[in-house]
Amino acid sequence: MDLKRIRDVLKTHYGLKPIAIRCLQGYEVGTVLLSGTGDPLILKYYPRSDSRTQWLAEENRILQHLALNHKGRFPEVYPTLDGSMDVHANGTHYRILTFLDGDFLAEASQTPGLLTSFGAFMGRLSKTLVKVKPGTLASAESEWDLQHLLKNRQFLTRVKDKRDRALIDYFFLQFEREVLPYRYHLRKAVIHNDANDWNVLCDGREVSSLIDFGDICYSWQINEVAVALTYILMGKDDPLSAAEVFLRAYHAEFPLTQEESDVLYYLVAGRLCMSLCQSAQTIEAAGTSLTPEQETYINISKVPAQKLLHQWIRINPLKARNAFRSAIGVPEPAPGLRKDLMERRSRFFSPALSLSYNTPIAMQRAAMQYMYDVSGNTYLDAYNNIMLAGHSHPKVARAASEGMARLNTNTRYLYNALDEYAEQLLALFPEPLNKLFLVNSGSAATDLALRLARYGTGRRKMLVLSQGYHGNTSAGIAVSHYKHVKKDLFPDTLIGPFPGTADGNTLGGGEQSRRCIRAYLDLVQSHAGTLAGFIAEPIMGCGGQLPLPEGLLPEVYGEIRKQGGVCISDEVQVGFGRLGKWTWGFQMRGLVPDIVVLGKPMGNGHPIGGVVTTAAIADAFAEGPEFFSSFGGNPVSCAIGKAVLDVIEEEGLREHAEKTGRILLRELENLQGHHTAITEVRGSGLFVGLALADREGKPDAAGASHLCNALKDRRILTSTDGPMNNVLKIKPPLPFDALNTSQLCTEIDRILKQTGSSC
Ligand code: PMP
Repeated sequence: MDLKRIRDVLKTHYGLKPIAIRCLQGYEVGTVLLSGTGDPLILKYYPRSDSRTQWLAEENRILQHLALNHKGRFPEVYPTLDGSMDVHANGTHYRILTFLDGDFLAEASQTPGLLTSFGAFMGRLSKTLVKVKPGTLASAESEWDLQHLLKNRQFLTRVKDKRDRALIDYFFLQFEREVLPYRYHLRKAVIHNDANDWNVLCDGREVSSLIDFGDICYSWQINEVAVALTYILMGKDDPLSAAEVFLRAYHAEFPLTQEESDVLYYLVAGRLCMSLCQSAQTIEAAGTSLTPEQETYINISKVPAQKLLHQWIRINPLKARNAFRSAIGVPEPAPGLRKDLMERRSRFFSPALSLSYNTPIAMQRAAMQYMYDVSGNTYLDAYNNIMLAGHSHPKVARAASEGMARLNTNTRYLYNALDEYAEQLLALFPEPLNKLFLVNSGSAATDLALRLARYGTGRRKMLVLSQGYHGNTSAGIAVSHYKHVKKDLFPDTLIGPFPGTADGNTLGGGEQSRRCIRAYLDLVQSHAGTLAGFIAEPIMGCGGQLPLPEGLLPEVYGEIRKQGGVCISDEVQVGFGRLGKWTWGFQMRGLVPDIVVLGKPMGNGHPIGGVVTTAAIADAFAEGPEFFSSFGGNPVSCAIGKAVLDVIEEEGLREHAEKTGRILLRELENLQGHHTAITEVRGSGLFVGLALADREGKPDAAGASHLCNALKDRRILTSTDGPMNNVLKIKPPLPFDALNTSQLCTEIDRILKQTGSSC
């Protein structure tokens, strides 16, 4: 700030001789407070440019209009000696505005009364501004204008926290899908566009004025509301209630349409994302030149914005929509009745298609680790291992829709997506696993893996684990003891003992373990020369999240290979980094299988399955009939698969699973110390099981089912499994974080306390 120059301008152009000039902190323009000139005044100065000249002319025009209608509520332009609105001198624009006194709304206690006053104030402002002609503002395209939110996507990579980045991109995607389709229905008007609570002044009980018109634009009218709401919702425990208070008062002054109120949820999120992208960009662009004060100023809303964004995604958009509708007097629509939905379903489907929970949930949408039902509830998903990257992950969703709009064909043509995906996926496997087959489900992958094993060895018989599950095709079911206990149905399947205790716990490293391994080795030896191979999961999923005894896989692999068979690792549930320490389950035991079966998280919900094997096995298979799958390896699926791998890498999901998994195991073990019902906590990363027993120490299926249903009633999704159905399964989407862990463990603790299982 060049004080001498400022004093010269003040004297020459305004005839002012202030006693004191104090610098006020601003984002990009110079702002100083002048005192000793009668009423205090604000001087703003900006580098001169043609666009700035035009901009200031528009701002001055709007301030004049407001001065006519709302005396003392908004800054007024203090004219120069010759009656001009501003001064151009020394390559700088100077402009003086009246100073408005009051407390910042940001620092006031935001009672419902004050929020009502704020809503009414903004409504009155809108009533006036709606009559103002846009002039040249109509063609401006600011990055701070919510209708141009997507301009901020270019700054996404500047956001440091990678999972925040995904969350922001999720809301960019929702903006495209949920807001942009309505853009021609949303009213447009001149808006202030920055009614953040540091620009709003109040006198304790009432909002008195609004300052800083530096972001005015001609935009969707509702954006005025969205911006104002965004800032008052920060730091609130119950943001929706605060929003309703504001909206009710705004609507009474300036009625909103239902369409406007319906897009508000995504506009508030949009403003948060814009603010986070802009602050990240400003910090990055400034590099080391930012002063600590400037950085504090930029961060002033960054931390609360980040916090509100994480709070916001926990709110079911339907709940927000209904709250906003209710505030503007639109009746809430009756939700579809669960009973009707269930009746309709039973008309079309066999009861073989089961539903989860005592009272099934009608789901509507989902985001990252949260799921939203049709009644406005939000569930924490601690169960769906398929959505590894998170529900509706923007990178995966975009890969799907962009691919479908460009090219979808099959492997009989050449296209990059197939080879690119194969290269990226196979790079995650040790040699000699270097050949890939792509199919559309874990079951189809198992089926193909069995064919490969049988083709390569010329034998049929497979060794499997008791309680294993590998797929729903005829061949998959035949090797899945979990679904079929009558072994005589499947003459080609040799079933070993259950690799856990009779009550569903792990065997540990002792004598029981040795006996189990011995039993498997005996089986192989007694069928030597007839076995095509062995298929197993490294941690059994359907078997109750059960890690196999440490030596089982290495020893059985050795014995199977000795007698000419192949070893198949089913990584459908545990693969792709969920285990934290390892990308693949077989790495737990330092093994390399001959064939690997992939599925579930491979497409983050899109149906992709795969088989990875050695060149020798793949080549032997090629001597048989052509292998063709209409959909396996299509370009859209490949692009989705690649997006999943990119997300795992970019967001460090495996490392995140390791870190969060450690916290989860620690908290659950802590609970085990307080509840006798918990007999074992096991697993790795975010693939965890909690075994439950009753008072007599017997496997407690009813207790596990009660816990699972009670958690669901508290809006947390888990499931039960294991041979005795007494294991609670926890295998959430990987964005699941430490806060979610703590919520889950707190609720488990409360439920077990209520059922009286404490020590
Ligand atoms: N293998 C394992 C270990 C599984 O858990 C499953 C599915 N639960 C499958 C294979 C079959 O996969 P999909 O349901 O995709 O066919």
